[in-house]
Amino acid sequence: MGATPCTDSITIEFGCQFRVELTDGSLEGILKAFCKLLPELLRDFIQKVLVGFGESVMVHSRKPFCCEECGNDKEFIWKTRHGKETKILTVFQWVSLEQLQVQCKRCGHKRYITRKLLGIEPMKRIPRETYRKLGLVGSLTTYRVAKKIVSMFGWTVDKMTIWRSVQKTASEIAFPLDEKELPLGEADGTGVGGLYHNIVNLKNIITS
Ligand SMILES: [Zn+2]
Repeated sequence: MGATPCTDSITIEFGCQFRVELTDGSLEGILKAFCKLLPELLRDFIQKVLVGFGESVMVHSRKPFCCEECGNDKEFIWKTRHGKETKILTVFQWVSLEQLQVQCKRCGHKRYITRKLLGIEPMKRIPRETYRKLGLVGSLTTYRVAKKIVSMFGWTVDKMTIWRSVQKTASEIAFPLDEKELPLGEADGTGVGGLYHNIVNLKNIITS
């Protein structure tokens, strides 16, 4: 996980209002509309929770973060709850979040606390859990197909990101492969030869 997320318990009220135009009432049409809505809904929700946790930790005498300059972990004031945007790839979508920034009362140094609260490593745009999930999909098929699969579930991720995820997670994924079963995957006539090929490739990566 890297960083430790905020573990205080908070309750937030989340109301949302969106204007959606639907061309038909089929389930497919509804899901399509929902997929369009998802990034905004997700961003608003994460933002709301973030600010909630930010406010919750700011009333504590000792903060879960410290000043990178002087080490102070007690006295801070809010600089902004809606600062410069940063992009993070969740398992659903890329989301643009407005950063939370505080200022050290001792030395005046400013720091962002967004990733600290979210439990994401500093500077990282793709959390480890997202990498792991994308890496798994990307290692089971070609990147082109992987992109298609993830887009079917509402993700908008480019092939490069999937490729990078595979590289990052290849050493962590272990398939319990049965050597004798492999030829079946190749000969079933569904054209998933790529699956066989990729598993072998992945296995080579893992075992090398
Ligand atoms: Zn300081």
